[in-house]
Amino acid sequence: ALAAAGREAAVVGVGRSGAAAARLLRAAGVAVYASDAGAGAKLTPLADALRTEGIDVQLGGHDLARIAKAGVVVVSPGVPPDVPPLRAAREAGVPIISEVELALHHLPASVRYIGITGTNGKTTVTAMVAQLLSAVGVNAEEAGNIGTPLSEIALREALPAWISLELSSFQLADTPSVKPAVAVLTNLAPDHLDRYPDLESYYRDKDRLFRNLDGLSVRVVNRDDAEVMRRTATVRGDAKTFSVERRDTDAWYDADARWLMLAGERLLARDEFPLLGLHNVANALTAALAVHSALPEARSADGRARLASGLRSFVAPPHRLEKVGEFDGVLWINDSKATNVGASRVAIAGMERPTVLLLGGRHKGEPYSNLLDVMRGRVKAVVAYGEAEDLVVADLTGHVPVERGGSSFDTVLAKARALAAPGDAILLSPACSSYDMFNNYEERGATFRAMASR
Ligand code: ADP
Repeated sequence: ALAAAGREAAVVGVGRSGAAAARLLRAAGVAVYASDAGAGAKLTPLADALRTEGIDVQLGGHDLARIAKAGVVVVSPGVPPDVPPLRAAREAGVPIISEVELALHHLPASVRYIGITGTNGKTTVTAMVAQLLSAVGVNAEEAGNIGTPLSEIALREALPAWISLELSSFQLADTPSVKPAVAVLTNLAPDHLDRYPDLESYYRDKDRLFRNLDGLSVRVVNRDDAEVMRRTATVRGDAKTFSVERRDTDAWYDADARWLMLAGERLLARDEFPLLGLHNVANALTAALAVHSALPEARSADGRARLASGLRSFVAPPHRLEKVGEFDGVLWINDSKATNVGASRVAIAGMERPTVLLLGGRHKGEPYSNLLDVMRGRVKAVVAYGEAEDLVVADLTGHVPVERGGSSFDTVLAKARALAAPGDAILLSPACSSYDMFNNYEERGATFRAMASR
């Protein structure tokens, strides 16, 4: 139905998502041409496997003329909108859809999903929602940006009843059919200014999660975020709100009594919830409220107890305020996933020891001076490094001690070690992407972790 009759489908990007999309199209009997600008050693085995399944794969470039003749172009997450194959498709009037959109067309309506987006906390909330759905006794999977592409789930013979689906702004841009049973918006803050012309365009892609909601839909939104509330005020359906600041909401944090509250009742004591940071309390409230809104069985006393036990046993995903260990009295914390200023803000705000902060990588457009208020009284020194080094130095000098770490992670960590005294913490919460020095944030975090004990 997606591809015009008789025409092949083009898949742009042959990573895990692109491969799953190509297979899904193939399984539906569509001829597929898949291409990728890269040709690295990681792609070759995947390309070979796809070829044996009857998919025409090209690595190291795209046949633009062929793409311009395709019936539909399926774009992998992470492919910027202005790359030549997508421009060629657009100019030729070929519809472009995300890999998620393709998967949604193949999933039966009986499979329901909770859609999760926002600037920060998406992955954490998506993992928590999946865990809470399972805790309540529902057969559930997590998918999307978090790791498993939705197309991989759609290819399975045994489908889950519910999916916890993480959606990035880029994915939402090309997913016109998105219609979650519950739509979750965690928060909005500046990010991706390297890929969007302005903040409004980025926020507008996030709004698209709500585009098809109707009178029966539920949205779960952050009452503490004025931008979120403003942008979702006119969306159709029921609004459920969470807050760590105020009580007149559906899920909130009683900071005095240290209780997480849900629908007017106690859900879980703060001390029984294992994650660091007030933002993770917000994430727990978000996830519990989403599942509570989705499933009647979560609303009984037994359901509430199951939600609580799901949160109690939740393990934080790696590279998110992960305690690496204490060496010579210095606590090393890996928050490599903090790739924007907003994410680093919450990490710094939660620091209870004098902190040496590693800040740098590939700049994404936001001033580092937006961290100064939370640094006060917490950060004893900053090590600026990578491509963003000069900008970090320029933004922070005169307000907090700043040292230059250069563009070798060895030097960066040597500087950090020299600055930290017993009782301090070394925090990698870089507020930048990792692409100047690493393949991804996982590699950056793993390197930090490995060098911590040395
Ligand atoms: P995402 O998938 O949206 O990038 P993650 O759950 O992976 O979000 O968390 C990324 C980083 O964002 C974390 O390391 C943390 O510093 C920060 N963060 C997590 N949850 C929140 C939140 N609710 N509000 C603000 N920042 C958050």
